[in-house]
Amino acid sequence: MRKEAAAMVTAAQITHMMEGGMVADALGVPVEFSRRGTYHVTGMQGHGTYDQPAGSWSDDSSLTLCLMENVNESGDFANLFDKMAAYTRGRYTPRGVMFDIGHTTHNAIARFLAGTPPLDCGDTAPDTNGNGALMRIAPLALVLLTEDDAAERRQVISDTTRLTHAHVRSIIGSVLFVELLRALLRGETLADALGPVFQQVANSGFPAHEIAYYRRLAAPAFGQTPPAAIRSSGYVVDTLEAAIWVNLRSRSFQETALTAVNLGDDTDTVAQIAAMLYGAGHPEMTIPQEWSGQLMRTTLDRQIIAHFAKRYAEP
Ligand SMILES: [Mg+2]
Repeated sequence: MRKEAAAMVTAAQITHMMEGGMVADALGVPVEFSRRGTYHVTGMQGHGTYDQPAGSWSDDSSLTLCLMENVNESGDFANLFDKMAAYTRGRYTPRGVMFDIGHTTHNAIARFLAGTPPLDCGDTAPDTNGNGALMRIAPLALVLLTEDDAAERRQVISDTTRLTHAHVRSIIGSVLFVELLRALLRGETLADALGPVFQQVANSGFPAHEIAYYRRLAAPAFGQTPPAAIRSSGYVVDTLEAAIWVNLRSRSFQETALTAVNLGDDTDTVAQIAAMLYGAGHPEMTIPQEWSGQLMRTTLDRQIIAHFAKRYAEP
């Protein structure tokens, strides 16, 4: 599957990928939970769902920053939980205040703080398969970029997911997403990578009836699925499908981010996941200045991303 002349991943690409995710998150925040067709986003705007200023990014970016800082420090899972708990107190946010967190993530942090071992904190119920692990897992594609053992990659992705989302469906979603990002970072196109990555994950020991929840991704014409058949909810399957579908139909970062945001419902997370996929597959990607200029950057997020990009860029 991997091309012999694999693309080199630069610090600039990693930076753009992560900043692109934050920009897309911020584009979606004002319209999160809005119904498709009842609004049309064309750029950064303020207020809306959480009444935040334009350029405010949410839990998707905050929890991704937690994981980036955690791996920067070679931290363990307790270290990562400490960071996620700090997020609930306002660290890793644009203005020092948390305004958004999913129930399942919140419950897992509470269990950790009550003394539960990290790998036992995640919810195992089928109705807790929200996108809360998917939204923070992308940095593992860089961490595992040079890990050639697929079983080892699966273990790391699985454990990092189960801290909050321990049902196998969430774990499969994370593995599919990280493996796709990794293939794109290696220079493959999404259209070429999707089928083989799906087959690789499907053949790696996960229950077939759980793999089946993602089976639409394996259809060669998935990108031609009509919009009405694409749900963009916070359910992990819907979020991953929507983000991939948007990428199969978009030709630029702007189109990717705006198409995702305008799908409605879980706008910020679908857009963030879609933007990360775009960034992984497009080393030359640029973010429109009018969007990046409005993104509410902080000293901390700049430091974390710079350190992470330097650490995981290929020499
Ligand atoms: Mg969010």
